[in-house]
Amino acid sequence: MRFPVKKFFSYYKPYLSLFLRVLACAFIVSAVTLVFPLLVQHITKDVLKGDLSGALSSVYGIGGLMLVLVAVQNIGNYFVDYKGHEVGARMESDMRSELFAHMQTLSFSFYDKEKTGRLMSRITNDLLLLSELYHHGPEDYVKYLVRFIGAFFILFSINAHLTIAVFCFFPILGAFSLYFNKMLNKALRRNKERIGDVNAQVEDSLSGIRVVKSFANEYVEIEKFNQANNRFLDSRKKTYKAEAYFFNAVETIIQLITITVIIFGSASIVGNTLNLADLITFLLYISFMIEPIQRLTHMSSQLQEGITGFQRFMEIMNLKPTIENKPNALILPEVHGEIEFKQVSFRYEAHLDHVLVNLSLRVQPGEYVALVGPSGVGKTTLCSLIPRFYEVTNGDVLLDGISVRDLDLRSLRNNIGIVQQDIYLFAGTVMENIGYGNPAASEEAIIAAAKYANAHGFIMNLSNGYHTEIGQRGVKLSGGQKQRLSIARVFLKNPPVLILDEATSALDNESESIIKESLESLAKGRTTIVIAHRLSTIRNAERIIVLTEDGIVEQGTHEALLARDGVYAHLYSKQFELQ
Ligand code: ADP
Ligand code: MG
Repeated sequence: MRFPVKKFFSYYKPYLSLFLRVLACAFIVSAVTLVFPLLVQHITKDVLKGDLSGALSSVYGIGGLMLVLVAVQNIGNYFVDYKGHEVGARMESDMRSELFAHMQTLSFSFYDKEKTGRLMSRITNDLLLLSELYHHGPEDYVKYLVRFIGAFFILFSINAHLTIAVFCFFPILGAFSLYFNKMLNKALRRNKERIGDVNAQVEDSLSGIRVVKSFANEYVEIEKFNQANNRFLDSRKKTYKAEAYFFNAVETIIQLITITVIIFGSASIVGNTLNLADLITFLLYISFMIEPIQRLTHMSSQLQEGITGFQRFMEIMNLKPTIENKPNALILPEVHGEIEFKQVSFRYEAHLDHVLVNLSLRVQPGEYVALVGPSGVGKTTLCSLIPRFYEVTNGDVLLDGISVRDLDLRSLRNNIGIVQQDIYLFAGTVMENIGYGNPAASEEAIIAAAKYANAHGFIMNLSNGYHTEIGQRGVKLSGGQKQRLSIARVFLKNPPVLILDEATSALDNESESIIKESLESLAKGRTTIVIAHRLSTIRNAERIIVLTEDGIVEQGTHEALLARDGVYAHLYSKQFELQ
């Protein structure tokens, strides 16, 4: 991946003036630092000349000046450290928000492929060192460039030959750094993938902790975790090896430079082309030139962390949602609830085979239809095409005669309510969970919705009533209670189109009969598609549609289908025998 420079710098924009002040401060601090060795040179020259009285008289003046410079330097550094880091952290935080918001827009097909833990890792872990990069990157660049160039000119004025000799080492250092940075980038990307896998493993095991314990499979999870953890460790070991190799190679070159200066400098003193004061100054400035190199090599692993984090950030940011609003997407003012599938074919990205082929079906506004058929034929899939969770491969799905592709997604989805077998509740109170159906709803409306859903009674018996925390995913509630909350949530949403996908399949008979009642009252006046595998529950549907691998094979009322003695009659008698 090429590094997206323009995008990278665009995040500075809101903080540009503050950041420029930080850079200016860094510039001043560096320039001030450069003056010190010159002052030392001034004193040592007097001392070496034997002009002790001259030396003494200037020592106080120079000492005073040094104090002033130290003050400027440290106050400047305080500002650079504090505000520089703050700017970096703010930018990092902006990007984290942007990444999260972007992930919210990505479509189901993306989440079908990605592990949640890995995505969490991108949001938390990957961005962590970006603040360091954003802040130290340019700031160190300014600081060390000033020192490096300043030191170079001063050295050159002291002794040109020696300076050129020292400079011969720099191309080697440069080439070495380039090579190393490339290697490090690769290693750090691998580290990030591996820690993502560790997070994915934690997320998966902990979300499923109830299953883990019921199978007494803690040791299996520990083993899986340790494998991921060890792979992460291996990857880090390789990174540290590369880093240690590089740092010490750089260190060796730096020592060679110092030795060169001492040997050639001493020779020059003997040859009378250099005096001792100049050699001391030279050595001081050499350290000024070397420090930026040392710092930049040590920093470069931190900077590379930031760079790889940014690259991984951009990988997600560059993903376009596969399902988006068209430029002139329609907002429906009022929905009657007519649904039509027109020669719809569909296959999941991950599959070669089509789930649905050339299927046509029309549901009238307010009609109550049931969709039945063997498991895996695509009932859920068919229903997920109405709110456009997935895009049809061929054909079209229409709501009130308008293709769902032409509708504004929010307006479309606001008009469709779904109650599923898998209930997802959020950590929070009962009130918050029902209120999720319509964030603008009043408490009275929420309580009314709970009453419609037959949930008010059990809610009032909870320790804190509507303000009871229900635990992560509603673990503190029974299956039937959770389902009643999810029905109340849809009551509050009040959509004209309703999809009930095996909403009662996971429940015991008693809960089922209570919930059947609430679902029936929910369905009143709405276009409703019910998917049910217990056929006894849909006997009173206005129309029953039988879906098999060959598409829609039969439709009609319960009585008509029984009389026909086809697939439905067969399915029904089989279930009847079982009961
Ligand atoms: P039904 O609801 O009739 O039991 P589904 O619509 O859930 O059937 O599934 C139809 C087929 O599509 C199945 O073969 C299933 O494996 C596959 N399928 C369902 N969801 C996905 C998905 N998110 N990604 C890939 N394949 C899927
Ligand atoms: Mg299903």
